[in-house]
Amino acid sequence: MSLTYWCPAALTADGWREAVSIAVDATGRIDRVEAGARRDGATVLGGPVVPGMANLHSHAHQRAMTGLAERASRRGDSFWTWREAMYRTVERVQPDQLGAIARQLYVEMLKAGYTSVGEFQYLHHDVDGKPYHDPAEMTLQCLAAAMATGIGFTALPVLYRYGGFGAAAANEGQRRFVNDVDGFARIVERLIAETRGNPDAAVGIAPHSLRAVSGELLDEALAAVGDRAAVVHIHIAEQRREVDDCIAFCGRRPVEWLAQHVNLDERWCLVHATHMTADETRRVATSGAVAGLCPTTEANLGDGFFNAADYLAAGGAFGIGSDSQVSVSPVEELRWLEYGVRLSTGTRNALASDDTPHTGQSLFDRALAGGARALGRRTGSIEVGARADFLVLDGEHPRLYARRGPALVDSWIFSGNDNPVRDVFVGGRQVVEAGRHPREEPIARDYRRALDQLNA
Ligand SMILES: [Zn+2]
Repeated sequence: MSLTYWCPAALTADGWREAVSIAVDATGRIDRVEAGARRDGATVLGGPVVPGMANLHSHAHQRAMTGLAERASRRGDSFWTWREAMYRTVERVQPDQLGAIARQLYVEMLKAGYTSVGEFQYLHHDVDGKPYHDPAEMTLQCLAAAMATGIGFTALPVLYRYGGFGAAAANEGQRRFVNDVDGFARIVERLIAETRGNPDAAVGIAPHSLRAVSGELLDEALAAVGDRAAVVHIHIAEQRREVDDCIAFCGRRPVEWLAQHVNLDERWCLVHATHMTADETRRVATSGAVAGLCPTTEANLGDGFFNAADYLAAGGAFGIGSDSQVSVSPVEELRWLEYGVRLSTGTRNALASDDTPHTGQSLFDRALAGGARALGRRTGSIEVGARADFLVLDGEHPRLYARRGPALVDSWIFSGNDNPVRDVFVGGRQVVEAGRHPREEPIARDYRRALDQLNA
């Protein structure tokens, strides 16, 4: 059965159009888009429609610890002390608890306007470090949470092996993460089997970082499962210490090493490419790889400023992620991406593209395209062949009232914090109605129970 929606205005692949009808086939794919259309027989959407955003980098379990690492310790705090606090949380999370946390998180994402998520999941094994009966248990919990809440999902099972550069032994806090290539391939194969034929799911792979995966291991993993993976994600150059350690180990910077070692192309997503030289910036920007930017987490962890102005000027692709879940809002990620440039350069609107002078619209468009590329699924555009993942905004909302087209997106990104996302559709199916998810109450109850158990 196919469905036809009609809306007063929509951000289509050809830009903003008025009186748009969007037909969706039985599989959840857009099969017709028509501007200047009549509303007869269509389901009328009560506001301007934009494509749903991809959240390309999420660690679901970190939702359970937001706010808990904001207390100063006497020895001074950094990314590395935050990581110790995070390890203390993940030490005890059971599969059903992870499922409950992920369901709560994914409802929050949908309500904020994210319609797909890349789950970069490195928590694989039981609390004692032994594999579960099902090797993909923890990532399958996230997949099930995605399907239960209705968000599109790209599984990014993580290969984690070492505690630092030079194949340093993993520490006790990392025992639930560690796999060899065989163990990792079993997880990947299991996820591929589980998502086969599911148009709302895909499977990529995520060698964690050059700290946790050696060059030899990266080669082995790519040889074993690289061809089966839709995309390849890696944390790269997030922290200065990581860059310094990499140089001390091999004489090269992480991005420099990776660009020389693998064929960087559209399948790659470099998460937090925060510390790049001008040459690295140009190189990644012209490779087709996506920079996975998570400005609120990068701010929270004190990572530093990504050189967005030069990267975007060189044509670089990027998408956004909620990463540590300190903020679950595409608006806040895009706003802070631009504000980072303003604060560090003393200029404004440096990230508007050649296509449009509207900074909010420009950032939104490029994050849609980069996010879809990084998650290996045809989303992020209202056009024939794409998944019918879209948001209906409340055009009467004070943040958006009297704004049209690109000015409406600018106002959404750069004003206030109330959420004007009214309705959310994924694969043509409505998952948020008037700002509410139909299952949000039982999901919140399960989340509270999981937190009570974890805190007991
Ligand atoms: Zn991350």
